[in-house]
Amino acid sequence: MLEAKFYDTYHFCNVVKNVLYHSENYLGVLNDFHGDGRIYYRLSTFNKYSILHEFIEFIVHDVYYDQSSEAALEKKQKNQEVYQDIPIALNILRPSALPIELALEHHNMPHQSFEDFLDKQNKKFIECDIDDAYEFIHTLRETGVFHELIEHISKEVFHVVFQNRDLMKNFNILMANALEHEARSETPNEIKKIFSRPGILKRVAIPVWVRRAVFFRDRGRCVLCDKDLSGQVNLENKENYDHIVPLAMHGLNDISNIQLLCKECNQHEKRAKEAVTSDNYQSWYTY
Ligand SMILES: [Zn+2]
Repeated sequence: MLEAKFYDTYHFCNVVKNVLYHSENYLGVLNDFHGDGRIYYRLSTFNKYSILHEFIEFIVHDVYYDQSSEAALEKKQKNQEVYQDIPIALNILRPSALPIELALEHHNMPHQSFEDFLDKQNKKFIECDIDDAYEFIHTLRETGVFHELIEHISKEVFHVVFQNRDLMKNFNILMANALEHEARSETPNEIKKIFSRPGILKRVAIPVWVRRAVFFRDRGRCVLCDKDLSGQVNLENKENYDHIVPLAMHGLNDISNIQLLCKECNQHEKRAKEAVTSDNYQSWYTY
């Protein structure tokens, strides 16, 4: 069970979507995620905390650091100054609370407040600087609560975006391109065993939990021709669980890269050798 609070979740969904669909504007961020051979160390074989979870986590982490910019802090300090004699306004605005603190509160994750942190150093919020904010986040990291928060947000964002097959396709194309790029250099020895040849991952059995999740997401229907597979699907039949970006095109063994197809579409798609999915979804009811 996932206890989803949807606090800022859609905001993060949108950031993730922007990075994936306008990757040309985020080359630095993307390079930090998968460039210079890093993709090799992000690889996992059907981990429940998938490569997409890792990616979302990476983006959320980046956003929290961005929100703690100098300009953002100065704006908060200005608010504190303007409203310091109006307790009601201070209670609502809570200028001294950093965005990460508000998120932790919302998720009921116990932590030290920024004000208490400053108090211990005999500093007032109004006179602190960005280094204090980073230092504070650093202490949150040390206690593990920062990572706990980011991991939880990543699960919530995954919960929402997993429905969006086009986004899955975009993410996997991006990762496949990274893997293709790295294939030009030597594969690190410790992960050689998961490759069949440079840049191409070995085919592995798709775990039951992946099949179940994909089957329910795609409502037991072929995503391309809408054929009802619920009565006929044979869970032993691997053919129906298709890699959106084929392994031969540097696709990943990751739940984000799997969709439900009927046998015919699967064979047809294999011949086409390209990443194919559909924008059609079973709606909650017919219009
Ligand atoms: Zn089909």
